[in-house]
Amino acid sequence: MDTKAFKRTLQHSENYNRKGFGHQAEVTTQLQSEYQSSLIQEIRDRNYSLQRGDVTIRLAQAFGFCWGVERAVAMAYETRQHFPTERIWITNEIIHNPSVNQRMQEMEVQFIPVETGKKDFSVVENNDVVILPAFGASIQEMQILHDKGCKIVDTTCPWVSKVWNTVEKHKKIDYTSIIHGKYKHEETVATSSFAGKYLIVLNLKEAQYVADYILNGGNREEFLQKFAKACSAGFDPDQDLERVGIANQTTMLKGETEQIGKLFERTMMQKYGPDQLNEHFQSFNTICDATQERQDAMLELVQHELNLMVVIGGFNSSNTTQLQQIAFEKGIPSYHIDSVERIKSGNAIQHRQLNGELAIAENWLPPGKIVVGVTSGASTPDKVVEDVIEKIFSLKA
Ligand code: SF4
Repeated sequence: MDTKAFKRTLQHSENYNRKGFGHQAEVTTQLQSEYQSSLIQEIRDRNYSLQRGDVTIRLAQAFGFCWGVERAVAMAYETRQHFPTERIWITNEIIHNPSVNQRMQEMEVQFIPVETGKKDFSVVENNDVVILPAFGASIQEMQILHDKGCKIVDTTCPWVSKVWNTVEKHKKIDYTSIIHGKYKHEETVATSSFAGKYLIVLNLKEAQYVADYILNGGNREEFLQKFAKACSAGFDPDQDLERVGIANQTTMLKGETEQIGKLFERTMMQKYGPDQLNEHFQSFNTICDATQERQDAMLELVQHELNLMVVIGGFNSSNTTQLQQIAFEKGIPSYHIDSVERIKSGNAIQHRQLNGELAIAENWLPPGKIVVGVTSGASTPDKVVEDVIEKIFSLKA
């Protein structure tokens, strides 16, 4: 499919909007009162640290809502204002945050139902309004909605669109896009729908496996089985790894994306020689600034003496999991929670482990004076962070 041509058609359609509806001022006031926090502002003003009793809170210097998420949420609020009586759907969670998604439901913005793992678009009628979330939607979903003649409000973050443009460039010159991401994540599903040939690698280990295959060959069946859900239809590792370009899910660990890029650059240089490198390898910087800033702030925060960390964000939020991974690698006891309700009475906390499973930690708040590091993912409102900090203060009071 000519994804570029389709996007052009869509963007010229009168049913398509990606700029909002001019209600920014009212919506900003509403968002401030619902999601912002005076306590968090106070901590920011005090150089990101606040002591009460035995507890010192140290906040990361960049955390919480990124501008792409803020923009998407604001556009969803504006959409409700602009279409007060129409049915409004959203193709997925607007962002990965339970409180924001709960608020969407209160505003009667409904999710497209999912039947046996597939979205059922038959519920959408041609006068309905459909919002595409911050991490985008696949080209096939956009086409279904466009064909139905419904109104599309596209909140896709421009950083995500930049990655789509990158894989389209690879497609145009017949390069395979190596996408650093999670094949099931909606953003990566969307990105791969714009690509031609693609292969999704989760981490450096998988990338190394692919690089070894490029250099030395290997077991083709094993390769195809390993990436069965993570490559384009008909992918042939013996043909389709001669020219590769790098792309990424915007919320992966920045350092790892860079390492993967370097690995493939070295691999192609070794296989084809430095003067042929440009014929076999392409890389554009598509790491999102907000993800980068949050990860850098986390790396700075874990240099301090901390008794423990609390990382706040949706359990299916990729960028929050990456922050948790940084604390884990530093050996700091760290608890990833999605809301204050995870903190139970009796000094227990229910948290998500890096393997995705929930666990209960008892006696997680040590006695005496403690320093608690706090950060939150790009889809977490300050208000949620405030609730968690207040709870810690009250438990230690
Ligand atoms: S994390 Fe980056 S790519 Fe994702 S919505 Fe925020 S600004 Fe956009």
